[in-house]
Amino acid sequence: MNIKEFNEFKKYSEASGVIALVDENIHMELNEYGCFEETVSQSDDYDIASTVNFVSPNFNKNVNESMISKQLYEHVENINFDKRIGYYLSLYAGHVREGDYRLNGSSGGMGTWIFKELFENDLIDGVIHVKENQDEQIPLIYKYDISRNVEEVKAGSRTKYYPVELSKALKKIKEVPGRYAVIGIPSFIMAIRLLAQKDEVIKNRIKFTVGLICGHQKSSKYSDALAWQMGVKPGNLKYINFRKKYSDKPANIYGVEITGTIEGKDVIISRPIKELIGHDWGQGYFKVLASDFTDDVMNETADITLGDAWLDNYINDSNGNNVIIVRNPVINEIIQKGIDSEKLELDTIGIESIMNSQDAHYRHTHDELAYRLYKKDKLRQWYPYKRVEPSDDFPFLRKKIQDMREEISTKSHFFYKKAVEKDDLNYFIKKMKKLSWKYKFLYRILTIQNRGIRNTILIVAKRKFTNR
Ligand SMILES: Cc1cc2nc3c(=O)[nH]c(=O)nc-3n(C[C@H](O)[C@H](O)[C@H](O)COP(=O)(O)OP(=O)(O)OC[C@H]3O[C@@H](n4cnc5c(N)ncnc54)[C@H](O)[C@@H]3O)c2cc1C
Repeated sequence: MNIKEFNEFKKYSEASGVIALVDENIHMELNEYGCFEETVSQSDDYDIASTVNFVSPNFNKNVNESMISKQLYEHVENINFDKRIGYYLSLYAGHVREGDYRLNGSSGGMGTWIFKELFENDLIDGVIHVKENQDEQIPLIYKYDISRNVEEVKAGSRTKYYPVELSKALKKIKEVPGRYAVIGIPSFIMAIRLLAQKDEVIKNRIKFTVGLICGHQKSSKYSDALAWQMGVKPGNLKYINFRKKYSDKPANIYGVEITGTIEGKDVIISRPIKELIGHDWGQGYFKVLASDFTDDVMNETADITLGDAWLDNYINDSNGNNVIIVRNPVINEIIQKGIDSEKLELDTIGIESIMNSQDAHYRHTHDELAYRLYKKDKLRQWYPYKRVEPSDDFPFLRKKIQDMREEISTKSHFFYKKAVEKDDLNYFIKKMKKLSWKYKFLYRILTIQNRGIRNTILIVAKRKFTNR
């Protein structure tokens, strides 16, 4: 592949950084929109290493998540399979009871607790996860790094809706022998699985993979835009907690807390996310393009998958809960022991509960991917090979909603860049509000259509009458 072809393909890259491990002339850099991308430090006639096509999930035409997960888990004793969630040994919803894992976690705290157990059972020597960046030379708030004990792992808890990449951390584990666990979003875990097929050192050293469910990846401008709305201008943001729990609110009503400077003074500010433009994940502000070209919702190649328990029985609990899909027998046993010893409070749930918890995400990411692929076909544009077939067979309004989501996420990147150039946050807000209004209008029509006109009138009248 030459550089011109590579530059076309890389628009769809998950930008995990694995490519930089198989071609030393490729480096990961944040682009002008705050998204990681691969840059090639060679002249235009350079031939990109052929393994690049293999290790990146969106370039690989021949190996998909179904094949990798089959190789990994098909032979596990008592394993089950469902087409939508992949292989599984057990399914749970709940949280960690032990210590402060839940308090300091974004959901139920399982993401940190499982690493603690792997350390304490002497199964790993290090964890590759996302931590605060301490290196002042790098203009990033968070980055992938390695924790070598429980205390270090605990310091890196919580969800970061922030661009990250694995190349530097993976290079470190190639230098330092040991047994490692890694956590990542679906395309990153798949990229590591593909890399492991080409790289014996990675294959032998990565012993466990923890997968996150991921609505989509955000650019670094998402953080900047939230902070700017709270008074901290671009460049002055130092720290952001994307998931501040409110003890008196349901788990999905969370806050954002930032540390930064305003007119030279250090400030800590928090606001409910719902008050800030860009909070609606459905609209997809600052979404990375590759997120719209994955069909792996449940992180099918990970040893354990963790997400938020967005379910009626759990959502009202402000402390947060996880949904959990377990595939690896060692992790399954650790969790079973955790339940028996009351370190964990987990309920066994069914496939439909897992699906319900990710209802809107699955519809967008998996089902309606078919329409996004259809649009690419129509424009005769290249797109990554997926397990979903292109299709136009969706109701008119669902297609319009997909079109609006594409417009919102694309334009949010451009309008925000312009707003920074103009030093005018209102430029961004005004432009985006118009688009968000159109999106909400479509949703209103869809709701009326689903309820029927008569029921809608009755509901509106009842609300007026009861003053709600
Ligand atoms: C970008 C993104 C989008 C998400 N979207 C959804 C969604 O749509 N639906 C859903 O149910 N869940 C989603 N999640 C997962 C959810 O937010 C929680 O991360 C998950 O439930 C684990 O919470 P916990 O309390 O168990 O973990 P914690 O104990 O808080 O530990 C979290 C672990 O994840 C690591 N981590 C944090 N950010 C990242 C990152 N960007 N990449 C890799 N590792 C990271 C941390 O370093 C830590 O080790 C998303 C997560 C991310 C990062």
